[in-house]
Amino acid sequence: MMDVVIGLEVHVQLKTKSKIFCSCPADYTKDIPPNTHICEVCTGQPGSLPVFNKKVLEYGVLLSLATESRISKLIRFERKNYFYPDLPKSYQISQYRAPLSYGGFIELKSGKRIRLQRIHMEEDAGKLVHVAGETFIDFNRAGVPLLEIVTEPDISSPDEAVEFLTLLRETVRYLGISDGDMEEGSLRCDANISLKPEGEDRLGTKVEIKNINSFKFVKRALEFEIKRQTEVLKSGGRVIQETRLFNEAKGTTESMRTKEEAHDYRYFPDPDLVPIEISQELIDRVSEDLVELPLQKYWRFRKEYGLNDERASILKSDYYMAEFFERTVKFVGNPEKVANWMTVEITGILRNVGKELKETPLTPENFSSLLKLLFEGKISRPAAKSVLKRALEIGEDPIQLIENEGLLQSRGDLSPLIEEILRSHADQVKDYCNGRKKIISFFIGQAMKITRGKADPVELKKIFEEKLKDACKGLD
Ligand SMILES: [Zn+2]
Repeated sequence: MMDVVIGLEVHVQLKTKSKIFCSCPADYTKDIPPNTHICEVCTGQPGSLPVFNKKVLEYGVLLSLATESRISKLIRFERKNYFYPDLPKSYQISQYRAPLSYGGFIELKSGKRIRLQRIHMEEDAGKLVHVAGETFIDFNRAGVPLLEIVTEPDISSPDEAVEFLTLLRETVRYLGISDGDMEEGSLRCDANISLKPEGEDRLGTKVEIKNINSFKFVKRALEFEIKRQTEVLKSGGRVIQETRLFNEAKGTTESMRTKEEAHDYRYFPDPDLVPIEISQELIDRVSEDLVELPLQKYWRFRKEYGLNDERASILKSDYYMAEFFERTVKFVGNPEKVANWMTVEITGILRNVGKELKETPLTPENFSSLLKLLFEGKISRPAAKSVLKRALEIGEDPIQLIENEGLLQSRGDLSPLIEEILRSHADQVKDYCNGRKKIISFFIGQAMKITRGKADPVELKKIFEEKLKDACKGLD
């Protein structure tokens, strides 16, 4: 058996308003026409000078605190030199010898800690756009702020890698510093992987996999690479240190180039940017923005509400959803039932329509009202489901829907109860038929008592009158 050793390098794009070294908007999405959010700084014009965006530092400090990283007292930016068409200056402003923070960790559900070697700030490059055999360049993304998170090689399986990335993504979303969307490129991941004989201390030769842009592909790329390297080693060969690209279509990795060493980049301090001292005051101020983190929430939900692993995992995956759950439970209790409705029904419908919960008119208040009606038997389960579906799909208030469509259970469902009341009070029925019409309020009182005041008395009166009419006919 071989031990698998994986380390990750993750780039998280920060959602600041402006870029890291200029005041251009950091928004570069598809709707923004190419090369409109650019200036002389982010396109690397001679003589232009970078000005550091302090918000980037605050976001970086926040993630450092959330991962219990040690924050450097003095940091500086360095130039990472390499040539590529999407990099207008021919160097990227990054951090090397004095990173923002180091020595943190992210804990997995198993209790295992994946140590973070470092977190540093840097700028993103532009984007090459290939259209019909031609290549264009869009610099809107150049200078968008990134945090690079480098782990120690502590990850020992593709599943652990996915769990780590999931927790990291949830964390940056909880903190509100990034969308963490892998498909959109706001979270990018390179993986280093090597194999070594079980129990051996010395690490094997590592291979870096680039170009992995979904959680599913991280798993597949790593699984493929474990298989490939196992076969190489089994047949007596040796693994070459290189960079490989993940081919999504084939599910394989392909050799791209032999790996650069750090010295190939000729790092040196950027003379245009002064070193930055990080004050305790700044750290204290930023720490006020810390929130309960995903895994803490997960364990609390399990303990406090008795939720199982699956439900607690789904709820903690989204901050809004977790808050929504807790507020709903405050209104209606029944944490397990609420969790079930949220993680099965709501999540299922949202997945189908491609929406997020916060984009719908559903609120903890109206969702609670809906559940209350259901728990009290005032609407049926299918009715509740269909209302929920329409509320989430077409965006209507669920309680309004119930009212508009008259979905509150009435006649049909109250009939058995009313018949039962009449059967067990034969004397009063006789009195009624003999002209004591007022006794109807006695029957309504019985029904109200049994339904604990939840039936509509006007509706009850109507049904009792009908049923009694029939009953009196039978007595004639
Ligand atoms: Zn700019």
